[in-house]
Amino acid sequence: MPEPAPTFSNWVGNQHCTPRRRLSPASEAEVQEAVRSATARGEGVRVVATGHSFTPVHLTDGTLIDLDNLHGITAIDAAARRVRALPGTTIHAFGEPLWDAGLALANQGDIDTQGIAGAIGTGTHGSGLALGSFSARLRGCRIVAGNGDVVVIDESTPELLAAAQVSVGMLGVMTELEVSVVGRYRLAEQIHHWSYEQLIEEWDERVGNHRHFSCFWCPTERSASLYGLEMEPGKPTADAAFVKVYDEAGDDLPDSTTHRRRVNRPHLVYPMVYEPNFHELEYFVRYDRAKEALGAMRELMLASQPDAVFPLEVRTVAADDGYLSSQYGTPTIVLSVSGEPGTDYWAYLRAVDALLGGQFGARVHWGKLHFLTADQLHERYPMAQAFIDVRRRLDPAGTFLNDHLRPLFA
Ligand SMILES: Cc1cc2nc3c(=O)[nH]c(=O)nc-3n(C[C@H](O)[C@H](O)[C@H](O)COP(=O)(O)OP(=O)(O)OC[C@H]3O[C@@H](n4cnc5c(N)ncnc54)[C@H](O)[C@@H]3O)c2cc1C
Repeated sequence: MPEPAPTFSNWVGNQHCTPRRRLSPASEAEVQEAVRSATARGEGVRVVATGHSFTPVHLTDGTLIDLDNLHGITAIDAAARRVRALPGTTIHAFGEPLWDAGLALANQGDIDTQGIAGAIGTGTHGSGLALGSFSARLRGCRIVAGNGDVVVIDESTPELLAAAQVSVGMLGVMTELEVSVVGRYRLAEQIHHWSYEQLIEEWDERVGNHRHFSCFWCPTERSASLYGLEMEPGKPTADAAFVKVYDEAGDDLPDSTTHRRRVNRPHLVYPMVYEPNFHELEYFVRYDRAKEALGAMRELMLASQPDAVFPLEVRTVAADDGYLSSQYGTPTIVLSVSGEPGTDYWAYLRAVDALLGGQFGARVHWGKLHFLTADQLHERYPMAQAFIDVRRRLDPAGTFLNDHLRPLFA
């Protein structure tokens, strides 16, 4: 019996486990060997990319596989606008090689340190009503399934692809992924400080006519500083929004580092810097109820202070067809809040769940705190059973389930 691996903690430090084995395979064959020997011992297997999920998705007392030795771009096809990469390749690592090939990731979220398989595993997204999540861009992958065999998934296997697009590590270990990308573009940033009334007034034009529109609406004067947001001095922060508008920059607009008006390669503009000082929940509401849900969240947060102290982050994502995608069949408004570590924020987060889940049928971010039950999964995700059917085919023994996922997906 090997020594237990050291306790694992996720990036933000709210999830921990002590697996029997922690392995860092350096090849697909080593992943196969790790999975086969775990299943022979009847142990569970989970994978961690960079551990930026807030949910207990990584936790296991069996084998925890990390991707420390499985990173790097393996092929770029500029003509087909495709890139292939090993699963631990960070979002950041795609930026310059794609740029040099005349390409770029279509969109990015708030940070670029996630591994590509981790980002795709939970449906990680940025903002833009015409732009899908990272998962929507998955065009194929290789997965080491429950019996240790490699399953090749691509556009000729549409059911497997739709299941793999958001699979939270439940189909097996992805060892290589193919993602569609776009021709390279530069981003022009505008940062604004708006009242809530201005946010609502400008909403339709900004969402409709700009590449990326998102904001952090702040319930209190303290809120902006918790996410390091620089509001304009002299203006109230409470009930105001830090607004980001990004458009593609024309050739006539030179690169610029001007404060709140940067122009640059997209991978240099998207990422923000966060401290691990928040425990986040993020729910997705059908876009046709966007402003209604936004107004309801503002009311709930103003009534929930002091627990509701972190900003409400507001984004949009285009529809796609991933079985467990929060955008399956509909574009969404994305509403995210955080609990403050060290406080008992559960009643507040449960109130957000009751509002967005109960009144708006919201779907959840698989990497962020949520309260989804099996009944709600099937009500809100029309293809949940199709996902479960694929999961059972690729992993009939449930090797890749853990206590967090089993009640929903066994
Ligand atoms: C500061 C911060 C900012 C964030 N910003 C955003 C944002 O802007 N937009 C957004 O949507 N989310 C955001 N998130 C959430 C984050 O993008 C997701 O939780 C993402 O899954 C984390 O990526 P990771 O590489 O850390 O994956 P992990 O958390 O390590 O893993 C995520 C899931 O993927 C699975 N997985 C990982 N590798 C593999 C593999 N090789 N094969 C099979 N399964 C695998 C894991 O088992 C797990 O279920 C943010 C999180 C933090 C902490």
